[in-house]
Amino acid sequence: RKKIGVLTSGGDASGMNACVRSVVLYGISKGCDVYAVYEGYQGLVDGGDYIRKMDWRSVTGYLSIGGTSIGTARCMAFKTREGRLLAAQNLIKNGIDSLIVCGGDGSLTGADVFRSEWSGLVSELLKADRITKEEASIFKHLTIVGLVGSIDNDMSSTDITIGAVTSLHRICEAVDSVDTTALSHSRAFVIEVMGRHCGWLALMAGIATGADFVFIPERPPSEEDWETAMCKVARRHRELGKRKTIIIVAEGALDRNLKAIKVDHIKDILCDRLGLDTRVTILGHTQRGGSPCAFDRILGTVQSVAAVDAVLASTPDKPSPMIGMNNNQVTTKPLMDAVKLTHEGAAAIESRNFDRALELRDPQFLD
Ligand code: ATP
Repeated sequence: RKKIGVLTSGGDASGMNACVRSVVLYGISKGCDVYAVYEGYQGLVDGGDYIRKMDWRSVTGYLSIGGTSIGTARCMAFKTREGRLLAAQNLIKNGIDSLIVCGGDGSLTGADVFRSEWSGLVSELLKADRITKEEASIFKHLTIVGLVGSIDNDMSSTDITIGAVTSLHRICEAVDSVDTTALSHSRAFVIEVMGRHCGWLALMAGIATGADFVFIPERPPSEEDWETAMCKVARRHRELGKRKTIIIVAEGALDRNLKAIKVDHIKDILCDRLGLDTRVTILGHTQRGGSPCAFDRILGTVQSVAAVDAVLASTPDKPSPMIGMNNNQVTTKPLMDAVKLTHEGAAAIESRNFDRALELRDPQFLD
């Protein structure tokens, strides 16, 4: 009987609960035992009550709850060999040989490290008498499957990550709310949105709300003096009769010289040069989403079915898969490749190779 562990890790994203629910229900329907590992990798390291067998009713009501009900964490211990040794020991003692990890690129990097070290970890545990010879022979291989849960939509090789669309909805609602007050007072608003080094949320929010100007890391303004360029656009829109000015800034936005573009600086520019009554709104953690939109519920559900199928189809010689979404199809790609391309994409931004960064993120360029 296959024993599958499921955990959520890194920043919470709406739709993670749909993943857990789907892994539990579909896993059970396929004759597996499913265990939830609470609090991300920390639960794996700590073991005990953090690893709990789930039944059909354990996940009742999960679909509509935002975030992750089994908890998530950023776990320093898992970044150390000793932490991963403890994690391996806890998995083996619970009889779990397959792990479905839902998280961002950091979590999936950790999963990949864990799997690549697995046989070394097992030998070390055996040598230290922390597991028996029989356990070492049964748990020769660890199956890992990655699901991408992140509001940032920053993972390479998948078109969309679980939680990103819910987050985008919340951002649009917030911008719409700001719009009404901006219109009433004829004000300008500079709105900062999340996304770390990725501009997807900011760009999509800009399109969906008709913002005047958007700053994203992947396309820094081409002008050295971007302040003048931005003012030109804002002034033109005002001259055309617009009563509001909305500037959306990704938290990782950069100028041509890779210097961070700050919302307060933009506010000062709009005030000083255009005389606009300007306010800054940092949307903050409301963007994590709350109740997931239908898309993220569906995405989490269908991708997790694919994740359980991938566990059941796995063989030691096959690379760990990551479940993605490409052109509206659920896809299975090597996890290691997707993680590597994601890191290369981040490095490309740092070296100002923006086109390359976009190519690395978008699988259509790679296939
Ligand atoms: P988000 O995109 O929402 O930030 P994330 O998964 O990228 O999510 P991280 O904080 O980068 O979030 O990673 C989550 C956890 O994954 C870390 O706290 C750590 O436990 C584990 N992890 C990350 N990188 C590694 C690594 N190189 N080796 C081992 N574990 C790692």
